[in-house]
Amino acid sequence: MSQYELKYYGDPVLRKKAKPIEEITDEIRDLAYQMIQIMEQYKGCGLAATQVGVLYRLFVSNVEREDENGEVHLGEAKVYINPVISNPSNILVEHSEGCLSIPKLSLPIERPLSITIEATDLEGRRFKKECYGFLARNMMHENDHLNGVLHIDRYKGNREAVSQALRKIKQTYYNK
Ligand code: ZN
Repeated sequence: MSQYELKYYGDPVLRKKAKPIEEITDEIRDLAYQMIQIMEQYKGCGLAATQVGVLYRLFVSNVEREDENGEVHLGEAKVYINPVISNPSNILVEHSEGCLSIPKLSLPIERPLSITIEATDLEGRRFKKECYGFLARNMMHENDHLNGVLHIDRYKGNREAVSQALRKIKQTYYNK
């Protein structure tokens, strides 16, 4: 059984800033494997360590790419340690976005169309990847978690409706 569990909106840990990982130890490898299991269990496409209450700069994702037709391809889960995002496109796109920690609250969120991500894998290799469309969005969403930022913070629509939904989510999932 996993020692980690998914944290929901209302949990103060989701608002904390995560710390860099200095060494890839058994603890980190175990955390990454368990996070992949949790992500798959909840049928998500990304999960940040913050979402299981661990303040390390690490997230997992199974988003492979978005093709020219806008179709999203999922693949084997990948681990991103100490990610750094750069080179955001000036083109902003709005797309519906959800979060496992804030169940059933998809919101249109505006983000750059493309970014570059640099991160370390579980073998300690630093890699760099150009990300476009949904993959870029996925990377930015998970990276936000490591800074205590949630998609609702970037929502520009009706805040009152969102506040109501958030109160309900907190009652249902966090205060149970
Ligand atoms: Zn999320």
